Amino acid sequence: MSERVLVGAGVGTGIAIGRAFKYTSAKYVPWESDKAGSSRGLMAITAAIAQVEKDLDESAKNSDAEAASILEAMKLTLSDPSLLAGIKERLADGANSQRAVSGAFAGAAKALSSLGEYFAARASDIEELGNRVIQVLSGEGAVDFPAEPFVLFADSVGPLEMSRLANTSIVGLITSTGSATSHTAILARAANLPTVVSVLGSEFIQLGDQVIVDSSSGQVLVNPNELELRQYQEALTKNPHHPDVSNFDLPVALFANLGSSSEAESALAFGAQGVGLFRTELLFLGEKQAPSLEKQILEYSRLLSAFPGKRVIVRVLDLDTDKPLPFLSLTETGKYANRGFQALLSNLEVLETQLEALAESSKRYPETELWVMAPMITSSKQAKQFVELAKNYGLKIVGVMIEVPEVCQEDTFAGILNTVDFVSIGTNDLTQYTLNLDRTNSAIALSDVRKPEVLGLIERVISASTAAHKPVGICGEAAGDPESAKLFIEYGVTSLSLSPALLPGLVRALRT
Ligand code: PEP
Ligand code: MG
Repeated sequence: MSERVLVGAGVGTGIAIGRAFKYTSAKYVPWESDKAGSSRGLMAITAAIAQVEKDLDESAKNSDAEAASILEAMKLTLSDPSLLAGIKERLADGANSQRAVSGAFAGAAKALSSLGEYFAARASDIEELGNRVIQVLSGEGAVDFPAEPFVLFADSVGPLEMSRLANTSIVGLITSTGSATSHTAILARAANLPTVVSVLGSEFIQLGDQVIVDSSSGQVLVNPNELELRQYQEALTKNPHHPDVSNFDLPVALFANLGSSSEAESALAFGAQGVGLFRTELLFLGEKQAPSLEKQILEYSRLLSAFPGKRVIVRVLDLDTDKPLPFLSLTETGKYANRGFQALLSNLEVLETQLEALAESSKRYPETELWVMAPMITSSKQAKQFVELAKNYGLKIVGVMIEVPEVCQEDTFAGILNTVDFVSIGTNDLTQYTLNLDRTNSAIALSDVRKPEVLGLIERVISASTAAHKPVGICGEAAGDPESAKLFIEYGVTSLSLSPALLPGLVRALRT
């Protein structure tokens, strides 16, 4: 397996493979040092603003209509008379040029962001404009981008910086902040640049690492292994000809793994027959408070609305120990402490809000078949608890993930099957916990799932589920590996869920 698989919100449909190039955009630091500033005054500032306006014009000329309108709006912002008035005022108070610009733009950005979430995006555009004017004033700002294809990773990249990247060898973009609807994301989509924003754990990417950006699943594979690289290279070259999965007489349903509702469109374009795993972590991570009921309803409704007549399996929050959330209290001890369902049991109000949001979204989009499952169940008692709770909220089809070897034991699994409507095998965790390996470590190979210890458990779970007439799916990375997928089908699995970009390749492989 790759050294790490990072998850974020995918933008667009593509795949990019390249070396990572870290980009630190100019930070908007209020100009404290008079010494470092210039005292060239208003003329120098208006010349710098004119230069930035010219750059925006140039970029808009080479962009599509949506991108051009964003750049045009930024240009309008620059000509806002109140900005110039703020600059003049500061110059009159004795500030040097950079400090006057910095202060005026910071003031405008602050005023905007206080108006709420919608205006916060515009405020960051203003900050970026201020940075750029200061760079021009100081004669700084030229970055030596690599000549060979590279994947840019940064905390954030503003629209102006995005447009300046257009003439470089950039093939993909990863940011640790931002949303799939930000201006940057819109520009990235318009430029057909495979992008994943809001990536969790991007600090694990090192300059020069090989990375795969899979914008259809919101995944970033850091230092992938040979098999993954081959699969993605194949997907990259063959994607224009998506086989029509729906017309192919498959023995299993082929679903997509998604991390954000913004990936729905591309999943459908890759032929996904539904969603086999919707990871809800992205809504929670990076937040100081649990997302509100309304915010969750919005996200789940967006997701469900994209799949009328199809199945969507949503997994409730699966906390990972390396990403603690400030609003969760973690009290459990033991091998699987503080992950998945165990962590939710100590924070029932978080789980209940999530279930309520899912039930409400399902009411709004009844044509989509919503299934809900819990991650990292460690006993049949937990399975029963989850099913009862979810059904109390009116959720109709409720299941659990099978990710630890203990629950595959005959008696325990029989108990689980008695209570759930379906199961889904998470081969990523099942492999690491069965073989006592660490999945964040490159020592795990994708083929490890085929080691007898793991495969034996999978076969047992599938055949017991089949005998009980309960749907059983696979939603770990192994589902996208043709050799493993063929075995799972042979055992009787009812669905495979994988990164949408790998669907066409899997369909081709299953046909042969
Ligand atoms: C798995 O463990 O196989 C799985 C699909 O869950 P995640 O990768 O989100 O832990
Ligand atoms: Mg898992």
